[in-house]
Amino acid sequence: MIHLRTSREIDAIAEGGSIIGRLFEHLAQFVRPGISTKGLDEEVESFVRSHDGAVPAFKGLYGFPGAACISVNEEVVHGIPKDSVVLGEGDIVTVDVGVRLDGWCSDSAYTYPVGDVDADTQRLLDATRASLDAAIEAAVEGNHVGDLGAAVMATVEGRGIGIVRDLVGHGIGREVHEEPQIPNIGRPGHGPKLRAGMVLAIEPMLSLGSDRIRTLEDRWTVVTRDGSRSAHFEHTVAVTADGPRVLTGAGREVPNPV
Ligand code: MG
Ligand code: MG
Repeated sequence: MIHLRTSREIDAIAEGGSIIGRLFEHLAQFVRPGISTKGLDEEVESFVRSHDGAVPAFKGLYGFPGAACISVNEEVVHGIPKDSVVLGEGDIVTVDVGVRLDGWCSDSAYTYPVGDVDADTQRLLDATRASLDAAIEAAVEGNHVGDLGAAVMATVEGRGIGIVRDLVGHGIGREVHEEPQIPNIGRPGHGPKLRAGMVLAIEPMLSLGSDRIRTLEDRWTVVTRDGSRSAHFEHTVAVTADGPRVLTGAGREVPNPV
């Protein structure tokens, strides 16, 4: 079932969500050539736990070993933080974090450029951010879930960018993953109707090539089949009578590390 949350419950989700927003600002200083994804994960964990009662929601979820999913270049999602994966100049790295606070979950992802990236990679980052913004704008009462995917499709159309179809956003609240699923493709007016009180993790995952993916032998890391780079931006968003409310938004304007 799709839960409808009260404004007080949405405030509680925003409390945890604001930790992720500030985390993404904090992390920017560490995203440099030479740091390992394990090193980034340690920063994530200590930052989240420095807030009273807050825990990284992904740690142990379905058995995941890290505090965050950290995915580099052609990795789309669910990268396991490792000492052996060290960021290099020109890479991109996605940090996907959940926070659980007072029994409520929030979920957000951000793809950082590591130093200077090439023009195609920048184009991918720009398109992915723009598609998230467009999907959030469509998260209004009376629209349907299909309007969100349609907004992502309209944003990337003609840009030579693939939309990963086999991974979706989701409702979120007491659990990280709740109904409904939020595909990144869709038809306007189709799918469940959006109502005030729904809380949704909206998360376009785009690639510079194929929209096809596969899972590595570690049974976690999802990569593009053709090895093209992938970016992923995500916010937890409440549908309210006053329009979409971004609950993980403190870090929306994270400066690109230089
Ligand atoms: Mg996420
Ligand atoms: Mg999510």
